[in-house]
Order: sequence, then structure tokens, then C-alpha cells
Amino acid sequence: MQIAILAVQGAFAEHRKKIEAMGVSCVELRKKEDLQKSFDGLILPGGESTVQGMLIKELGLYDGLKERIQDGMPVLATCAGLILLAEELANDPRVYFGTLPVKVKRNAYGRQLGSFHTVQKMDGIGIVPMTFIRAPYIEETRGNAQTLASVRGNIVAVKCGTQYAMSFHPELDEDNRIHQAFLNAARN
Ligand code: GLN
Repeated sequence: MQIAILAVQGAFAEHRKKIEAMGVSCVELRKKEDLQKSFDGLILPGGESTVQGMLIKELGLYDGLKERIQDGMPVLATCAGLILLAEELANDPRVYFGTLPVKVKRNAYGRQLGSFHTVQKMDGIGIVPMTFIRAPYIEETRGNAQTLASVRGNIVAVKCGTQYAMSFHPELDEDNRIHQAFLNAARN
């Protein structure tokens, strides 16, 4: 099994480190030709969604990735990755992959609470550490999107089919259970 990580900008190295420490090999996606490599799951890391969204189109990664996501390839999307998947943004007219039926608010915690850490229950996983960095949250779930976790009344993690998306950064904490759940989905 091999996992692909979108590596055009942002926190891709931290995901790679975690996945490799769990004994699974990774490929980094930086250009269209990288899509010819074989992979069973996709990670969309945190970073700056506007920059990532522009680069995936310019580098010719957009169509091939969207097709795989629509075909049911398991995806783990964190923070900016959640923004790339969302079918609607509350405070931005842009839509990127648009494969996840949720409405997401960017930079939803404002300036004062730009970054924070907490622990909270996530369905199917247990109590997990959650690190938020200029994070979005999910204002609304639609269709088959299921809420997996909420913090202070706001939805911060969802699952829809094989798309797992969250506002926080599981790659920055020691806990491996979220990545493990994603690897289990990719293995199937
Ligand atoms: N604020 C970023 C955005 O809107 C997301 C932050 C993150 O990925 N840590 O793209």
C-alpha cells in the first residue's frame, strides 16, 4: 500500500513523517506526472487553501485528483484540505474540489483565538488531541456527511463515504489513531 500526499504547499512533511513512522510508504504529489504513481489513499494537508487551490490547477493535478476522490479513493483532509474538499465556503466565493457536502467557514475562530489546543471526543476514535491553527469549522453538513466531532458547538470533523475531513491538525500531535483509521480505509 502507498499513500499520496499533496505536497505543493503547507504541512505535508508532518503527514509524511507520521505515515512513514506507521510503516507505510508515501509519494508526494507536486506535478501532473506524479499522478501516474500508484497510491491507495490521498492526504490533503493544512496550509493556505487559496495557494494550494491555485497550484493544483496550475500544476495539472486538479482533474486527476478530483476524479479519484469521486471514484471513492479514501481521503484524509486537514484544515486547508477540508476547505479544498468543501462544496461551499461561507465567507469565500471559491470552490475547489467541491466533493464534500458541507459548508465551511474559513479562519472561523477570528484573530484572538487564531490557534489553540484542546481534547475532544471523535466518533469511532475516542478522545483525541486537537490542534487548531487559523482553522476553519463546518457550519453545515448536508447529504451523507456525518459529524464526527464538535468543539464549543462547532463541527470540526466529518466523514462522508471515504472522505475524512477535519479543521484541526492530527499530524501535529503524537496520537496516531486518526491516521490509522484512514490507513484502514485505504487498505480496504
Ligand atoms: N486559514 C487557512 C486557509 O484558509 C487554513 C489554515 C490551516 O490549514 N492551518 O486556507
